[in-house]
Amino acid sequence: MKKPNIVILGAGYGGIMTAVKLQKSLGVNEANVTLVNRHSYHYQTTWLHENAAGTLHHDRTRIPIKDVINSSKINFVQDSVISINPDEKQVTLENGELEYDYLVIGLGFEAETFGIPGLKEHAFGISSINSARLIRQHIEYNFARYNNEKEPNEELLNIVVGGAGFTGIEFVGELANRVPELCKEYDIPREKVRLINVEAAPTALPGFDPALVEYAMNSLESRGVEFKIGAMIKEVTPNGLIYEKDEKREEIRSNTVVWAAGVRGNSIVDESGFETMRGRVKVREDLRTPDYDDVFVVGDCALIINEETDRPYPPTAQMAIQMAGTVAHNVKVLARGETDLEPFEPNIQGTVASLGHDDAIGVVFDDKKLFGWSASVMKKVIDNRYLLKLGGIGLLLKKGKFNIFH
Ligand SMILES: Cc1cc2nc3c(=O)[nH]c(=O)nc-3n(C[C@H](O)[C@H](O)[C@H](O)COP(=O)(O)OP(=O)(O)OC[C@H]3O[C@@H](n4cnc5c(N)ncnc54)[C@H](O)[C@@H]3O)c2cc1C
Repeated sequence: MKKPNIVILGAGYGGIMTAVKLQKSLGVNEANVTLVNRHSYHYQTTWLHENAAGTLHHDRTRIPIKDVINSSKINFVQDSVISINPDEKQVTLENGELEYDYLVIGLGFEAETFGIPGLKEHAFGISSINSARLIRQHIEYNFARYNNEKEPNEELLNIVVGGAGFTGIEFVGELANRVPELCKEYDIPREKVRLINVEAAPTALPGFDPALVEYAMNSLESRGVEFKIGAMIKEVTPNGLIYEKDEKREEIRSNTVVWAAGVRGNSIVDESGFETMRGRVKVREDLRTPDYDDVFVVGDCALIINEETDRPYPPTAQMAIQMAGTVAHNVKVLARGETDLEPFEPNIQGTVASLGHDDAIGVVFDDKKLFGWSASVMKKVIDNRYLLKLGGIGLLLKKGKFNIFH
């Protein structure tokens, strides 16, 4: 019998965990498994804000794919996906084509700009190692320029973050730690630097418990973060950003605007003809697309409704990793010619947002609130658990976060 071709697109949390699980559960004679990714490394997207702020080197965040993939079981192709043709069961890459019997789409997220003029052109986004490295270098370069200008130029030292949701708050927390270091290094008084977080909703961290929000805002404000809450970003320009608050328009002059206020699924998915909501396919309970029995979606490209709230689950690494378990199981079942597919049942174990290297807030074990150092330790435990799952004790020791007494 011909061995089925299983193709996994993207080596983010969802894609790489699917591959690792399949390499454990499928014999070499059962299927050909191919993993496609743009880079030769997997990166921990949930650490990118630290790389962007410059508080953690990006080499800590990326993991060579060859370190976790057994090349005798998985064929790794470093290439960029251009499009998917589900009717022909083909994937077009920048440098070739792949045919599949079963496909797993794990191409992750991209920024949702909500049509805000100038955002795409003038704002930075935290979405990959490359983009995080660019933000870090850009901020440093602006600090380095400051004392070389004839006139003081506030634009160089104003850093604006769009969005006070999970990602925006985590990034601002890292910047609050990093800015004093940069000031020391570039001989700039701390009070000259403004760190401004702009949020359209009536609160920071919408959806979080008010006590946690209050703690987070107090912690960040005490480290010099200014919040503009209820402030709708109207435009991003080459010299900063314009927002509207209480029906008044204000401008913040800045060379550094970072957008952290919205994501959507990878546009390749809708451009390939799958029906999506903001690039996310509303998958069946076995994580297949509604129209194709041989196409699974994992991670941020999938939309799953929480029956209790009747709203989509937020796209998170936690969800992507859990979905990978179901996808790997179901792909294995189909590859073996069996039919007992299992439904995906999310098991949300909590949410912890960091506020810098030794501060955080979160809710774990259903409704236990954590603040400060204990939340920060919990965040590191979550990160380390993932590394252990992905690559065992060796990877954990190499890349884990053990600096709990920082
Ligand atoms: C700064 C930040 C902090 C976050 N913190 C948390 C957190 O604390 N907890 C949490 O649960 N979630 C967090 N998230 C959300 C989480 O990172 C995402 O939900 C998660 O990364 C989704 O995983 P994924 O596998 O779908 O995609 P991704 O992790 O985005 O991976 C997609 C992969 O596909 C590759 N790829 C994309 N396009 C192509 C192409 N055309 N060709 C080839 N390869 C391609 C990419 O290079 C990447 O390797 C955070 C996100 C950000 C940005």
